[in-house]
Amino acid sequence: ANLLEAVEEGGVWRLYGTKFFCSATHADYCIITAKPKGSEKVALFVLPSWLPGDKEKEIRNGFTIDRIKWKMGTSELTTGELTFNGAVAYPVGPLDKGVANVVGIVLTYSRLTVGLSAAASMTRAVREARKYADLREAFGLKIGQFPMVAGQLAAIDHTAKRTTAGAFKLYRDFLALEGGLKGGLTNDEPEAARKKRFDIRELIMLQKLAASWDCTDVIRMAMSIFGGHGVMEDFSSLPRLYRDAAINELWEGPRNVLLTQMHRDLQRVADWYKPADFIENNLAGLDEARRRDLAKEMTELLSHSDLFHLDEKTIEICRRWDAFCHNFFHAYQDLALQEVEKV
Ligand SMILES: Cc1cc2nc3c(=O)[nH]c(=O)nc-3n(C[C@H](O)[C@H](O)[C@H](O)COP(=O)(O)OP(=O)(O)OC[C@H]3O[C@@H](n4cnc5c(N)ncnc54)[C@H](O)[C@@H]3O)c2cc1C
Repeated sequence: ANLLEAVEEGGVWRLYGTKFFCSATHADYCIITAKPKGSEKVALFVLPSWLPGDKEKEIRNGFTIDRIKWKMGTSELTTGELTFNGAVAYPVGPLDKGVANVVGIVLTYSRLTVGLSAAASMTRAVREARKYADLREAFGLKIGQFPMVAGQLAAIDHTAKRTTAGAFKLYRDFLALEGGLKGGLTNDEPEAARKKRFDIRELIMLQKLAASWDCTDVIRMAMSIFGGHGVMEDFSSLPRLYRDAAINELWEGPRNVLLTQMHRDLQRVADWYKPADFIENNLAGLDEARRRDLAKEMTELLSHSDLFHLDEKTIEICRRWDAFCHNFFHAYQDLALQEVEKV
C-alpha cells in the first residue's frame, strides 16, 4: 500500500504507483489499499477495472498489468504486478481506517474461505485415495488391505472430517454474528457481543493457520497412497490440490504473522477477556482437565510481553505458542465433529 498513492483531483480519487501482488486481475472490481497524498494512514478503495463503456474496448481504468506472476498454484486465478497511472477509485469507509477495515473485514472474510477450501480439498484428496486403495493391487492385495495404508487412510479421513466440521461450525457462528464483521477490535458493544465478535475474529485466524497447514499434510499423504501415480499431473487432481494448498497457507497472512497478531490481540483484550474465559467459551464440552491445562498454558504464554525480542526465552515462547494454537484449534474441530456425529 505504501507504494500506491491516492490523490483527490477535482472531487475524484485517482491512484498512482505500483502493486506487486494483485490477484484475480480478471475481476471487474477489486478492493485496494493506498495512502492518501500527505497522509501516513492507509485508506481503502474500491477500484473498477473498467470505466463505463471501456470493457468492450479492453481499455483498463488507468492501470496496466505489467506481468502475470508464474506461481506454484491457484493458477486459474491470475496474480499480476500492476502500475497505476490515475486509476479512478472510490473510498470505502473512513480514510484513516483502511488497515482496520481491510484486516477486520476483507482479510477476515477471505481467511474464512481458506478454511472452507482446506476442508474441501482434504475431503476430495481422501475420497480419491480411498477409491484408489480399493482398486489398485500390489503383491496380490488391494493396497487398502495393507494395515499401513489402512491406518494412513483412517488418519487423513479423520483430519478431513474434523476440518470440515470445524469449518461449518465456524461458518454458522460467523453467519449468526450480529452486525457482521467490523474493522479493528471494537469497544462499543455490550461485553457478550464484544466477546463473540472477538471469538470469531480469532477463530478465523486459528482456522486459517491450522487448516491450511494440515491440508498440505493430508494431500501429501494421499499422494503417497497413490504411489508413483500420486505425482502424475495427468492421472489425478492431487498435484494441483497440493500446489493450491501451499498458496492457501501463505496468502491472506502467513502463519507467523497470524501467530503474532493473535498473541497481541489476546493481550490487548486481557482486561475484559481472560484466557480461561476464552477457552471456556470456545471449547465448551472438552474435558475439564484439558481445558484447565490449555487455560494455564495460554495464560503463561500471554504473560510474555511480546514475540519480538530475539532471545532464548522468546524463541521458546514462540515455539510453544505455535503448538498451543494448533492444539487449541484441533480441540475445537474435534468438538465440532462430535457435534455432527451425535446427530
Ligand atoms: C499467490 C499470491 C497472491 C497474492 N495476492 C495478493 C493480492 O491480491 N493482494 C495483496 O495485497 N496481496 C497479495 N498477496 C501477498 C500476500 O498477502 C503476502 O505475500 C503475504 O501476506 C506475506 O507477505 P510478504 O510476501 O511480504 O512476506 P513477508 O512479510 O516478507 O514474510 C516473510 C516471512 O516473515 C514472517 N514474518 C513477517 N512479519 C512477521 C512478524 N511480524 N512476526 C513474525 N514473522 C513475520 C512471515 O510469516 C514469513 O514467514 C499474494 C500472495 C501470493 C503468494
